[in-house]
Amino acid sequence: MRKIAAHLILDGRGNCFSKGIVTIDTNGMILDVQDTGGNLQEEAGIEFYSGILVPGFINAHCHLEVSHLANAFPEGAGFIPFLKMVVDQRADELGVITSAAETADLLMQRNGIVAVGDISNGTSSFEVKAKSKIGYFTFLETLGFNPERAEKAIEWAQSCSGSASELGLKCSIVPHAPYSVSEPLFRAVASEAVRSGLPISIHSQESREEDELFEYGKGGMAAHLRDNLGIDTSSFLPTGRNALRSTLEFLPAQNPLLLVHNVYTEQEDLDYIQGVRRLENTWFVLCPCSNLFIQKRLPDVELFRRNDLQLCLGTDSLASNHQLSILEEMKIIQQAFPSVSLGEMIQWATLNGASALGISAGVGSLEVGKRPGINLLTGTDLSSQKLLPGSGIKKLC
Ligand SMILES: [Zn+2]
Repeated sequence: MRKIAAHLILDGRGNCFSKGIVTIDTNGMILDVQDTGGNLQEEAGIEFYSGILVPGFINAHCHLEVSHLANAFPEGAGFIPFLKMVVDQRADELGVITSAAETADLLMQRNGIVAVGDISNGTSSFEVKAKSKIGYFTFLETLGFNPERAEKAIEWAQSCSGSASELGLKCSIVPHAPYSVSEPLFRAVASEAVRSGLPISIHSQESREEDELFEYGKGGMAAHLRDNLGIDTSSFLPTGRNALRSTLEFLPAQNPLLLVHNVYTEQEDLDYIQGVRRLENTWFVLCPCSNLFIQKRLPDVELFRRNDLQLCLGTDSLASNHQLSILEEMKIIQQAFPSVSLGEMIQWATLNGASALGISAGVGSLEVGKRPGINLLTGTDLSSQKLLPGSGIKKLC
């Protein structure tokens, strides 16, 4: 048994305890969370730390299998050039892919991440995920803008799903993005989702170009599909609506849904989403470092707060991020949106991600009976509860 105390505890549910004590058993299971009201009595055996205790982080969006693309691309190239670079360079030897994934997995552990919603297009990262101390929920991503590819794409995802199950990995089959999935493929993914009832995710409103494609059938995305991917888009009919509003209805309203990125989301989009599905089983995943890396733009975080949405944080992959650290994502948000409190961000980084992935019974908050992992935030401004550029993480259990 350990008794761990610090200047502050942010429990992931929005509570803040001054000089609280978290008691855990030898397996890291929480036995007690005590609010001393700032009155911590000296007691033998209490470990006292300078800083803030928070639950283990949940990285709601990552692509472990492209970790070998770290430092491969220039920053600020823009969305379409980024897509092209990934297409051109993602193939590599399996050994290179797995060893980079292994390193990235260890980095995430060191950064206090205990669970990840991780995208896979194939099986190359499965062994690493199965062996890791991190709990992975794998989103098996389908791709195919050409309707004729739908059957092949779903069969491939099903075979990957079989391999994942053999390794004990939890997974669901998901669409990559509106601009890379045909209507028949959306429908096939949806019927898998209805059958499983599991969380699904989609890259959403990450670019302006996807909207141009759906509204008018032209622009950078149309050119990318045609010129870079060699897809015949002649049968595609523009809908006159943006990408989100053209495709969200294909995804079953009863499945938990993670909408990832939301860089171009506006109030009308949120109104539309509420007309199609319940906000209680919809999560909005923000990956600010990746958005800055690719296109030097951030989502409108204040808009999401005004609408009281369930926000989560993700790192995206090392192809578009210098690190896989939820703490660094929070620093970017605090800098750009100073009115966001640390307690709020901690909830996005922990309990909300756990709820989105369906694992909040075991992780995501400092509550009796959970084994959430405990991180110590160091080097913060304790009086204002702000992160500082040098703030760090120490994993306590
Ligand atoms: Zn992504």
